[in-house]
Amino acid sequence: MTLDRETLNSILLYTITASGAVIAAIWLGLILWTWRDIRQRSRDPLAQVAASLMVAVLGLFGVIIYILLRPPETLTEAYERSLEEEALLQNIEARPVCPGCGRSVKEAWQVCPYCHTKLKKPCVHCGELLELPWNLCPYCAGSQVAAGQTAPVIAPPIYTPSASPEDAVEFVEE
Ligand SMILES: [Zn+2]
Ligand SMILES: [Zn+2]
Repeated sequence: MTLDRETLNSILLYTITASGAVIAAIWLGLILWTWRDIRQRSRDPLAQVAASLMVAVLGLFGVIIYILLRPPETLTEAYERSLEEEALLQNIEARPVCPGCGRSVKEAWQVCPYCHTKLKKPCVHCGELLELPWNLCPYCAGSQVAAGQTAPVIAPPIYTPSASPEDAVEFVEE
């Protein structure tokens, strides 16, 4: 009977040791998994340590709490999403829009057909379409100040007192 009890005790001890080892392995695995997962989702070292510590202390419950609270996307996913958003934004920006009415217009249009806003002007030399503020054609290097347009105002001659008094006298005598 005593032998039976001893055998029973040792079986119990082995079982407890074995299950303890298994639990410890699972516990370590959970901590390791959390550590690797949080490093993919956050660059914050404090968050990485806090998440791993929580799992170390709370075990399986810590993992459940971590899965509920962790950042929804990994850093790679967030980066890819930001790239996609940027590409989308560039597409929208690349499409020209009328400054008058906001409707999309074509690159080659000189005026908006909806609200008659002037969009582009042809080069006076080569006829290529230029942006309105440009006064130099990038295609033919021609200046856009032409006859009929406002030419630069030539400043009137300024009276200079440096002229010698004799000259002034001569001018008065004439
Ligand atoms: Zn318009
Ligand atoms: Zn030109």
